[in-house]
Amino acid sequence: MGIERILIVNSDAEDILAMQKRMPETVEVIGASHWQAKKGIEQSPSLVVVDNDANDLKEARGVETLGMIREQDSEVPVVYTSFQPGWVAGEVYQTKGVTVVKTDEALDLISKEYGLELLSLEPSMKTDPELSMIVTYNQVDGYEPGLYGDGKLLIHSFDKYAGELAKSVLKEKIQEIYKDFEWKADRDLIKKMFVYDGVNGGEWPGRVASALGHDVRMPIELMACHCEWDRKRRLESMRDLTLYQVECGGSKTLGAIADVILGIKRPGVDYDSLPISVDEITSSSAKSVI
Ligand SMILES: [Zn+2]
Repeated sequence: MGIERILIVNSDAEDILAMQKRMPETVEVIGASHWQAKKGIEQSPSLVVVDNDANDLKEARGVETLGMIREQDSEVPVVYTSFQPGWVAGEVYQTKGVTVVKTDEALDLISKEYGLELLSLEPSMKTDPELSMIVTYNQVDGYEPGLYGDGKLLIHSFDKYAGELAKSVLKEKIQEIYKDFEWKADRDLIKKMFVYDGVNGGEWPGRVASALGHDVRMPIELMACHCEWDRKRRLESMRDLTLYQVECGGSKTLGAIADVILGIKRPGVDYDSLPISVDEITSSSAKSVI
């Protein structure tokens, strides 16, 4: 039998919402408190989920609700949920068409019994930041520009050594980044940012790094070659940047950093001689509060 409408009777609206979130769009969900349950029944649901709703020593409200439901509809299947099914009143078990189930197993049972494909849980906004970003106007050894490792690493790079094109390539990259990103919503997802600063980009990589750092509210790892080192040092002292010295072009080091982020090893890469430690690469940057 197909399920078109489910009535969820629960005095906790959060519980109703949590169940509703998992239901496929083809299923209409009606949420009701115990005293509203009667109204819900009038809408002829194909399944009713009733919570036992027992608190401490209080008598379970679900028992009465179930009785009321059966008075009006002797056929509709009922899934009766309880955190402690062993404590559920005997008359519930004796009621026809009722399945008693532990609350946290209810969704699985419903999905199996009625062939409903549950929606997956949305990732919580409170998850740890996952995404590292590499920004360079040159190439990154071993990697094309793009997203890697199921959202672990985003590489904004060029397909070759940019040389004189550096500034215009970098401007383009920045436009891409700002086009794709909802800073307010997405910045909490950012774990770490690496920006390459060579000589061909002039002041641009430094500016880009400080702008990004400001917008994601965290210090940026500035991966800089030794050229114009004093200028880069001054920048570090003025902005929220951490400076590391890499080879001119940065491609080799950035490629190795990408490997470390993704947890892979490529032959011929010396991970021990990186200017930045594995811990520094993989730890989350501390966010500043505005
Ligand atoms: Zn250089």
